[in-house]
Amino acid sequence: MNDRSAMNDDNTTVAELKEQVHQLCLRKGWGVNGVQNPQHVAMAMTVEMSELLEHFQWLDPENVTALMEGRDEERRAMIAEEFADVMMYGLQLTRTLGIDITGQVLRKIDIVDRRPPKPYNPKR
Ligand SMILES: [Mg+2]
Repeated sequence: MNDRSAMNDDNTTVAELKEQVHQLCLRKGWGVNGVQNPQHVAMAMTVEMSELLEHFQWLDPENVTALMEGRDEERRAMIAEEFADVMMYGLQLTRTLGIDITGQVLRKIDIVDRRPPKPYNPKR
């Protein structure tokens, strides 16, 4: 699909998203033939993860509730943007290393499904 404005989670494959990120890298002249050093990409990903966490820093429970109930559109938009940065690096990393992320996520779901419960309750 070439019309990015029509792409969304329901009609776009992970492979198409990886390709979109790769094309961006090519347009920007990043890396060698659009492929950046995966070590650098992994480090950049943690920086973007920190930027994402910054939007959750020092929130009161009421702030989190407002966010979850769709009453804080400004914060939601900032979180979405930072999460996109994290995902873009993740997609780039998996493309470079030939990782099928769908297969890996499904594999991890199976592993976690089989794992015995932890002593704490992670349901919160
Ligand atoms: Mg960012």
